[in-house]
Amino acid sequence: MDGNFNENDLSRVVEADRAHVWHHLSQHQPYMNADAAKQVDPRIIVEGKGLRVWDQKGKEHIDAVAGGVWTVNVGYGRESIANAVRDQLVKLNFFGGTAGSIPGALFSEMLIDKMPGMTRVYYASSGSEANEKGFKMVRQIAHKRYGGKKHKILYRDRDYHGTTIACLSAGGQDERNAQYGPFTDGFVRVPHCLEYRKHEQDGAPDENYGVWAANQIEEVILREGPDTVGALCLEPVTAGGGVITPPDGYWERVREICDQYDVLLHIDEVVCGVGRTGTWFGYQHYGIQPDIVTMAKGVASGYAAISCCVTTEKVFDMFKDDASDHLNYFRDISTFGGCTAGPAAAIENMNIIERENLLENCTAMGDYMLDQLHALGDKHAVVGQARGKGLFLGAELVQDRDSKTPVDEKIVAQVVGDCMQQGVIIGATNRSLPGKNNTLCFSPALIATKDDIDQIVSAVDGALGRVFG
Ligand code: PMP
Repeated sequence: MDGNFNENDLSRVVEADRAHVWHHLSQHQPYMNADAAKQVDPRIIVEGKGLRVWDQKGKEHIDAVAGGVWTVNVGYGRESIANAVRDQLVKLNFFGGTAGSIPGALFSEMLIDKMPGMTRVYYASSGSEANEKGFKMVRQIAHKRYGGKKHKILYRDRDYHGTTIACLSAGGQDERNAQYGPFTDGFVRVPHCLEYRKHEQDGAPDENYGVWAANQIEEVILREGPDTVGALCLEPVTAGGGVITPPDGYWERVREICDQYDVLLHIDEVVCGVGRTGTWFGYQHYGIQPDIVTMAKGVASGYAAISCCVTTEKVFDMFKDDASDHLNYFRDISTFGGCTAGPAAAIENMNIIERENLLENCTAMGDYMLDQLHALGDKHAVVGQARGKGLFLGAELVQDRDSKTPVDEKIVAQVVGDCMQQGVIIGATNRSLPGKNNTLCFSPALIATKDDIDQIVSAVDGALGRVFG
């Protein structure tokens, strides 16, 4: 660490945090335990460089999850991004999004260049918000074109699209939703496409599972009535729901179904977007054309808050075809979509990915890491399946390979904790999937080297050995 903080400062920080900060997704009792012997300190991350972070005790960790939540794609400590943001902030920090900005215009051009077929970028500040923009577009199109009828939005079991009530209404992770209802109407669930668990799905075939899984969506459209279904919102590779890589043939069939029933395809690239899977966007592995694409985390690697809802000209056109109608524009705003730090950081973030060939590195290191995870599977029977794309990988842990019964989430937490003890931060699928929270998650920054990956995998190897004997 650079020594800007001494130990006394840091203990003050820990106490301030313990007293006042409400951590995300956290039970605070361990920090507050009246029995001092049982009390643990909240973890404060003080500094980061490359793939590594340092906590309040000065302990170094390899961050195998890009800031805990798949975000810091280009790694920590990037001065060129900090400088680009600083330069922009002193020139103009903000103006509401009814006007444009220099970095907003220039980043939109860069982004659209990476997304053939897409033309318009709507700025906001979080992944949830970008998804809400997509949902609102679909709803407004339903009102404008279909008398409000084609308003339903389909979402998939195990997918996640954000934390607001509307996003949770489109959320396929039940426990995450428990206690937050009632939800909004008009969101309808379709089955997941996790081939490894197809034995849990009635009628799933031995062959051509991908086409079968996509056809389940068609069945839902037919059941609901195609004239009521406006959009289908899917993650390209499901993240927190289990690092679910789609089976062969799935996406191609999904696009055909959307075309057949005039359903807009909204792809949630909040995790996969901007390089995570080795292509600029996850959907680009499958040769399909979306109608709406949302993105957030990797857009500026967490150097500033930014999200985008990107559409085709066809979608955009529906909002400008009759200028005499005073309701005929997208009646939506995002105050912080007007912050210029976001696009300024995003431009330099994208430049770094190009300059340092990080897509190529992501593909090569992702393949290497997947091989290493398969090798772990040869050694530890508890690894039921390793899967993923690029540096977006998971290892699903099962009690035995025949029944595929998930390992209990408390035991999965022990594996994560053991790695943490060794100075390696890994993740696990969402705790909101009881009985399904059994997939270890890995998403190191796209700069990862073989050495980094060896250290990560060796920590997991050690942890599996200790936890499962
Ligand atoms: N979509 C996906 C696929 C996500 O994983 C997340 C966040 N984990 C979101 C949307 C929501 O993003 P945010 O937390 O920025 O609102």
